[in-house]
Amino acid sequence: MISTAPDRNGVQERSSDVWSYISPSRLNIWLKCPVAFKLRYIDGIRSPTTPSLFLGKAVHAGLECYYRHKQVGTELEANDVVLRLDACWEALLAEDNMTFTSTSDETKLKQQAAVLIGAYLSQLSEEPTPMAVETTLQEPLVDLFTGEDLGIPLLGVVDLIVPSENGAVVVDFKTAAKSGPPTEKVHEVQLSAYSYLYRATTQQTESGLQIRSLVKTKTPKIEYREYPTRTESQLRRFFQIVRAYLDDLDRGRFVHRPGFGCTMCEFSDGTCDEF
Ligand code: SF4
Repeated sequence: MISTAPDRNGVQERSSDVWSYISPSRLNIWLKCPVAFKLRYIDGIRSPTTPSLFLGKAVHAGLECYYRHKQVGTELEANDVVLRLDACWEALLAEDNMTFTSTSDETKLKQQAAVLIGAYLSQLSEEPTPMAVETTLQEPLVDLFTGEDLGIPLLGVVDLIVPSENGAVVVDFKTAAKSGPPTEKVHEVQLSAYSYLYRATTQQTESGLQIRSLVKTKTPKIEYREYPTRTESQLRRFFQIVRAYLDDLDRGRFVHRPGFGCTMCEFSDGTCDEF
């Protein structure tokens, strides 16, 4: 059975101990640059939440609210969702210590969240009752190819699991600044992690995975990207990545990976040069 556990905040609270669990976001940051990983997760250096990240959080909260109601048989209209989001707005701000430079910036962002949620719901085709909403899955990491227990759990917060004719589809929501090609490699670690978690939790294989992107263009676009059941080679690569990550952690070895990723790195202001 999939159990519905607290929320992303539970995950954030435990983030100071890198040995307590592995998550797709930790793996992805380490893959981007081991020094960025160390600064954030070992040294605990956190940049303030940006408006763009906060928008993503607000939209996630709105969609979670919609699907939680749907799970118990209540179909909310977009306006209802926005009203509920409004009611928990201050709590969302407090969770991230989020501040805006002006009230009008905050109002604008709130409206943008409402528009994106409205666009998503207006384009949503009929969907069955979700099997799980905003669910924290945690399972011991046991190498599927050697049987070795790696001694650390994998943890992921899955936005949505919906039934389909052939089984369950694991869904992740993203907000994006622009449309992008459905490049599977970009999402490979997250998709493989969710697949592993789903299979380990339910003893069943997912029928597919989906990323639903809410694109923040002037007229918002909703893009559905469908990805098939994970293959053996994708899962093999996943375990190779996990092992390389654990080796770095064991040795305390974190190398700089200067490159294109630096243009989007929170530590590119010189913080990482001191390391
Ligand atoms: S700026 Fe570049 S090298 Fe420095 S931590 Fe970020 S990604 Fe790594």
